[in-house]
Amino acid sequence: MAIVMEGKALAAKIKEEVRLRVEGMVQKPGLAVVLVGEDPAALAYESGKRKDCQQCGIYYDALRLPGGISQEELTGVLQVLNEREDIDGILLLLPLPKHLDQRAALLTIRPDKDVDCVHPVNMGELVLGAGTLLPCTPAGVMRLLKEHHIDPAGKRCVVVGRSNIVGKPQAMLLLQKNGTVTICHTKTPDLAEECRRADILIAAAGRAGLITGDMVKEGAAVIDVAMNQGPDGRLCGDVDYPAAAERAAYITPVPGGTGPVTRAMLMENTLTAALARGKR
Ligand code: NAP
Repeated sequence: MAIVMEGKALAAKIKEEVRLRVEGMVQKPGLAVVLVGEDPAALAYESGKRKDCQQCGIYYDALRLPGGISQEELTGVLQVLNEREDIDGILLLLPLPKHLDQRAALLTIRPDKDVDCVHPVNMGELVLGAGTLLPCTPAGVMRLLKEHHIDPAGKRCVVVGRSNIVGKPQAMLLLQKNGTVTICHTKTPDLAEECRRADILIAAAGRAGLITGDMVKEGAAVIDVAMNQGPDGRLCGDVDYPAAAERAAYITPVPGGTGPVTRAMLMENTLTAALARGKR
């Protein structure tokens, strides 16, 4: 039976490390979350960030903007945040209402305050292996692996999903740690065969039940990044957990696996951004 890679415990440890570091700082790091419209999921997400910042001693500012805001007004808000001394990290919650140009908005955020690592400059640095601000979910997966002494070096790593926020940066981070990486997607001819070769299997497709037990290699580490609504309405990942746990050596639960670690990594990124901007 697999060892369960609990994300909650690791997240608490990361946040405590951030809190202790922030406690010793004269100029506190600051995070601004920008929310356009009244999407209930985004509102819940925003209040989670507020709580995390409170726990870590990070200054927090939420900017709730009306759904009908113009592109120019949004750009103006982001430009003000870019210049604010008290703000080190800017998180623009997505998706934006359809009339707004998401890419243009994200490009407005200064790369050194881009704690979500969505700006092309930060993505480029990541590919070059020189990134300081790393995307929270893939960086959190690397932390989970490290916490369990799972070294990607020399291992076959399979990432299911190639999105810009999860799959692609995940593959880059595994490659930087000397994993031999395969990226799978909807056009991959034999997903099961690719997965069965994986010593480290990262599921990030967003399809409940996609990874069945027989697709997991004996002794593999299985990281389920996905957050899907299962047929019973409950949150679930891509992996058939009970069947996969029979074969894997390590496995993340959903919920309670990568999700809490992602949140904690945002706190760490905000601290990193503040230190890089010279706050002490
Ligand atoms: P996304 O943009 O929809 O990308 C999904 C990727 O999976 C695509 O590359 C897609 O391939 C691939 N895919 C979908 N169905 C597949 C199939 N049947 N076989 C093989 N590949 C398939 O999703 P995302 O934003 O990366 O998010 C992925 C999942 O992670 C979602 O469940 C999301 O909720 C979750 N998530 C979790 C966290 C966290 O904190 N744990 C953070 C972010 C996202 P194509 O490119 O060919 O379409």
